[in-house]
Amino acid sequence: MNKTYTGDFIDEPLIQALLTETASLPKNQLEAIIEKARKAKGLTTQEVAALIQLEDETLLQKLFSAALEIKQKIYGKRLVLFAPLYLSNYCINNCVYCGYGCRNNQITRKKLTMDEIRDEVQALEELGHKRLMLDMGEDPELTPIEYVIDAMKTIYNTTKDNGAIRRVNIQIAATTVEEYKMLKEAGIGTYILFQETFHRETYSKMHPSGPKRDYNWHTTAVERAMEGGIDDVGMGVLYGLYDYRFEVVSLMLAINHLEEKFGIGPHTLSFPRMRAAEGVNLDTFPYLVSDDQFKKIIAVLRLAVPYTGMIISTRENPDYRDEIIDLGISQMSAGSCVGVGGYKAQLDNLKKGEHTAIEDSSQFQVADHRTPDEILRNICEAGYIPSYCTACYRKGRTGDRFMPLAKSGEIQNICQPNALLTLKEYLMDYATPETREIGEKAIQKHLAMIPNPQVKQMTIDELKKIETGERDLYF
Ligand code: SF4
Ligand code: SF4
Repeated sequence: MNKTYTGDFIDEPLIQALLTETASLPKNQLEAIIEKARKAKGLTTQEVAALIQLEDETLLQKLFSAALEIKQKIYGKRLVLFAPLYLSNYCINNCVYCGYGCRNNQITRKKLTMDEIRDEVQALEELGHKRLMLDMGEDPELTPIEYVIDAMKTIYNTTKDNGAIRRVNIQIAATTVEEYKMLKEAGIGTYILFQETFHRETYSKMHPSGPKRDYNWHTTAVERAMEGGIDDVGMGVLYGLYDYRFEVVSLMLAINHLEEKFGIGPHTLSFPRMRAAEGVNLDTFPYLVSDDQFKKIIAVLRLAVPYTGMIISTRENPDYRDEIIDLGISQMSAGSCVGVGGYKAQLDNLKKGEHTAIEDSSQFQVADHRTPDEILRNICEAGYIPSYCTACYRKGRTGDRFMPLAKSGEIQNICQPNALLTLKEYLMDYATPETREIGEKAIQKHLAMIPNPQVKQMTIDELKKIETGERDLYF
């Protein structure tokens, strides 16, 4: 008998009640919640409801500094980089906010062949990438699960000089436990699925047709992924479809549900924000989130789930992206092409000295057009360590083996050295002379900050091995 999946844990009356009862807590109570959060042990849903409604400027500043403190306590100074790879824009859904919806007959539909995937992956490797996030529209006939599995195999088997993709994360439509098992067997890193909106009425308006219209099936996809053996799952809301306060409290309920059922929460949370796209008019979205509100959302969730990686995309402009990194972001995409294909062309342009990304605003518009090399350099200059680390997944530190390390902050002792090793590889193999100089200084600076003398010495030894030509070293 088929098991029924329901999204009943998103209890709308409860969410409204929590928001109402915490709408105007006295300042000292709100300060006490922020103080409690500094211990990096997380927050209750009620506390999250209170903080997400904060408007007081002094308290907001306290919230932001607590978020930065927690991020550094758990993850240190490293910032993990990845690239999205769009395999196909065929889609049988018609999401109102997305230019790939089947109503849009103004775009060229395309699905990458395995040869084209190989070309794209080699270009990504030449740009220095080690982690990919695969994305595509939903079309069970044109891009069935077998296509995704073949793409994963092609990616893992494609190398270029010292380049290799070491972790493939996947963002595809909600599916069955059986298909999640297949993804697990093929070596998926994290399975990511954005909820878009937890608000049922809005969800229904945003998804007028297609399989994605089924709220219960979509909202429980990460559960099925876990049942299929994928223990690193990523969640996210598309901020701007409905009231962000409702979405953040709902996200907490979804996280709690996962923790209760499987004993572990999401590996990552993503923070996409509603952007313009072809055929999408932003004026018709009354809940768009301002820069200040978005900062608050990120900071509150950093306090609420300190152990979870938080991801920002190229939808945000570079200056603002740098600002929100301080509030708790631990991963970001770098030098992204959001169209189907495009990395090979981008690399060809770079080789000709043209720093232009290939534009395709069909799904959403990109605001950060820096190349990976520029992004890496800027990250070093801002005092962080750019990282292409994929160690945990390859060492079997996933799911319930990863969470205790993250929850205790011990992960930092592994993240920092691994970030330095992958940065060194990048500098040796792909960096421009300017980035190499800045990157080497960053390595020396952060090496000196490793507190444990033994770990520091081991890192120095591994860095030397990379200088003599060894690659893919990690703790
Ligand atoms: Fe298709 Fe995804 Fe776009 Fe919806 S958001 S139209 S499912 S590609
Ligand atoms: Fe991520 Fe683990 Fe590497 Fe840290 S050590 S960056 S948690 S893969």
